[in-house]
Amino acid sequence: MLETVTNIEDVLAERPRDQTGKGRIDIRDVSVTFGKGRSSHRAVESTRLQIEPGEFVCLLGPSGCGKSTLLNAVAGFIPPTMGEVLIDGEEITEPGPDRGMVFQQYSLFPWKSVRENVAFGPLLAGHSRNEAISTANTFLNMVGLAGFADRFPDELSGGMKQRVGIARALANYPSVFLMDEPFGALDAQTRVMMQENLLKIWAQFGNTVLFVTHDVDEAIFLADRVLVMSASPGRIIADFPVELERPRDVEMATGAEFIAIKKRCIEAIRAETLKAFEQQNMK
Ligand code: ADP
Ligand code: MG
Repeated sequence: MLETVTNIEDVLAERPRDQTGKGRIDIRDVSVTFGKGRSSHRAVESTRLQIEPGEFVCLLGPSGCGKSTLLNAVAGFIPPTMGEVLIDGEEITEPGPDRGMVFQQYSLFPWKSVRENVAFGPLLAGHSRNEAISTANTFLNMVGLAGFADRFPDELSGGMKQRVGIARALANYPSVFLMDEPFGALDAQTRVMMQENLLKIWAQFGNTVLFVTHDVDEAIFLADRVLVMSASPGRIIADFPVELERPRDVEMATGAEFIAIKKRCIEAIRAETLKAFEQQNMK
C-alpha cells in the first residue's frame, strides 16, 4: 500500500533551515584494510575526496568495490587503516548525530513501534518526550507513513521499513546524510517518489548527501556530482559534474544532457566491472 507524501514544504516550513554551511566532508587519503597478514583484504585504497556543504554526491561502482566501506568510514563505524575523515574540520572517530545513515538493510528496532523508532534519536539527544514524538510525527508524515505510526516493523513491507529508516535518520536533523542503496528494495513507482521527495527534503535542509547506488539513472537524477569507484580495492576514478537544472524532473532522463552523462558513467563502470570479473576469476 502506498500513501502519497504530501505537503513536505508545509511540514518543513516550521523548521529552521540551520544546516547551511555545515556538512563539509573531507576524506584524506583513506585506506581501509580488513584483517591482518596474508588473509588481509584492502577494501578502500588511498581515497581523497572533498564534498562541499550542501552538495549531493552519488557514489557508483561495481559490487564489492568498497562503497559501503567508505560510507561506513564517514559514518564512523569503520576506522580508516590509514588517513582520516573530517566533518567540518573535526576528525571522525565514532558515529554521531551530525551524520544520519540509511542502510541497505532495514535496521529498525523490531520491538519498538514505527513512531518510537523515529523518536529514538531525538530522545537520545535529550529532547522531551513530547518534542520527540512531535518530530517523529513530522517525519513520518513526510515519508507518507503517518497512518502506520503505531505499527511494528514486522507489519510493514520492505519499502515501508526503508521509509521509516529515512524518517529516523532525518529526525536528528543531520548535516550529513549517508545513504547506502536506500531505494534498492523499493518498487519502481515508490522509488521515483522517494527520489523526488529526497530532493525536496534536501533542497529545504541544505544538508550534504553522500548516496551510494548501483543505478546510473538514479545517481544522475539526484546528484550534483557522480563519483565512479574502481574495482576492489576501491578508489575514485571519475568525478562527473551533473549540471541539470533543479528542481529535477523525471522527463530530464530522456534529454540529451542526461544521456551524455549516462554514457560517460556507463563506460567508466563497464571498464571497472570487467576488471572486477577478471580479478575474481584469478582468485
Ligand atoms: P560494496 O558496498 O561496494 O559492494 P563493500 O564496501 O561492502 O563493497 O566491500 C568491499 C570489500 O571489502 C568486499 O570484498 C567485502 O567482502 C570486504 N569487506 C567488507 N566488509 C568487511 C568486513 N567487515 N570484514 C572483512 N571484509 C569485508
Ligand atoms: Mg555495499
